[in-house]
Amino acid sequence: MTARILVVDDVAANLKLLEARLLAEYYEVVTARSGPDAIEICESSKVDVVLLDIMMPGMDGFEVCRRLKADADTTHIPVIMVTALGQPADRVRGLEAGADDFLTKPVNDLQLLTRVRSLVRLKTLTDELRLRAATTRDIGIEQLLQRRNEDEEEIARVLLVEENEASARHLKRMLRGQFTLETVAKPQAAFLQAAEAAYECIVVATGFSEYDPLRLCSQLRALERTRLVPIVLLAGDADEECVIRGLELGVNDYLLRPVERQELIARLRTQIRRKRYNDSLRSSVARTVEMAVTDPLTGLHNRRYLDSHLRTLFDRADARERPLSLILIDIDRFKVINDTWGHDSGDAVLKELAARLRTNLRAIDLVCRYGGEEFVIVMPDTELFIAEKVAERIRAEVAHEPFPTGKGEEGLEVTASLGVAAMRQPGDTVEALLKRADVALYEAKSGGRNKVAAAA
Ligand code: GH3
Ligand code: MG
Ligand code: MG
Repeated sequence: MTARILVVDDVAANLKLLEARLLAEYYEVVTARSGPDAIEICESSKVDVVLLDIMMPGMDGFEVCRRLKADADTTHIPVIMVTALGQPADRVRGLEAGADDFLTKPVNDLQLLTRVRSLVRLKTLTDELRLRAATTRDIGIEQLLQRRNEDEEEIARVLLVEENEASARHLKRMLRGQFTLETVAKPQAAFLQAAEAAYECIVVATGFSEYDPLRLCSQLRALERTRLVPIVLLAGDADEECVIRGLELGVNDYLLRPVERQELIARLRTQIRRKRYNDSLRSSVARTVEMAVTDPLTGLHNRRYLDSHLRTLFDRADARERPLSLILIDIDRFKVINDTWGHDSGDAVLKELAARLRTNLRAIDLVCRYGGEEFVIVMPDTELFIAEKVAERIRAEVAHEPFPTGKGEEGLEVTASLGVAAMRQPGDTVEALLKRADVALYEAKSGGRNKVAAAA
């Protein structure tokens, strides 16, 4: 996966070194010699990951990071801070500035490439979600970003899979107060537990006596419930091979033992923050999509949805040589209801009709509000004579029971007319099918209303 990496360092030799290593992996590399230049590049072009030196004259790395994270246009760009060896305090400051990851100088090749790769992967996912969110209207990215801060205060639930009891106790002590940590010793049990509960991160310690930790990781990746939960590997020095394979399998990050407390906390926080950000983007996209295809008054699907979905159902029925029927429903003299009882009562009638339709149909039937007081029901796997029976049942359900208006009056007498049509093969089209249902509906109306008519 190729990506554009911005390397920021005031020392030219350091830039050259990192640039050469990244170019060798086919990344595109841009460089900046100062903080303001780095910010300018992030604002004016697409950057996937920033490698940021801390010690720079003028604006230091912490300040650059803080500014990038404070700006809604650049906040999603992952920042890796490059800290000097033996400066754990730098990590804490970096964390406070919003850094996503850390590397220690002199930079180790494996660490550089695995960190960059895993952040690029996350960034790609975030970009896709942001794009989807932006293309659907009404999105409110700003609100999402603000909410992120509130979310961060909520303590995350983390699962630790560690066979070694002493180590598990030690880690638990390290993370006390930071996360709600639950530990499990056996990998098989961990898999079941992760599938049951909503963890925001899973830490897998390598070195099980008789189980491959990567098997657990790949199982977690395959399961719907845990597919998007970040996994962090806790590995020994000798496990380099395992770490590389793990990252290929979709492990999000790793730490080498002995574990340094601040680093562990920082890495877990980063994973959890990203997950929460992506989760909120995803649910916002889902909500927006939902809004775009739902009729707000009745909660039924709207015409836009019908237009695309009817075609799908039609093509599927056609390909499988299965029947498909359609009912068009139009309330009789609805204008009179509005004029006599008011628009609110009219709305109440529409809602009640939608509710009656919903309770009288199968789950696979598609019910949509087609327009003002017109509704469409699409019934897969249904022959015309069955659809006629369904239509007749609906007609009776409407006519026999008065409609409550919520205003304390007696219910309103409401009737509807229904036109039924079925797909004809060969050579039928969606448009022709809808047209036949419409002609049948017209027939029901002119035949006196409160009637069902089927296309001949
Ligand atoms: P017909 O029996 O021939 O169908 O007569 P009708 O009065 O039902 O048909 P017409 O198409 O003349 O009138 C439909 C009315 O539905 C007109 C419009 O104001 C009303 N209408 C459309 N959408 C809504 C809505 O969302 N709420 C309410 N209360 N009325 C609506
Ligand atoms: Mg009408
Ligand atoms: Mg009408």
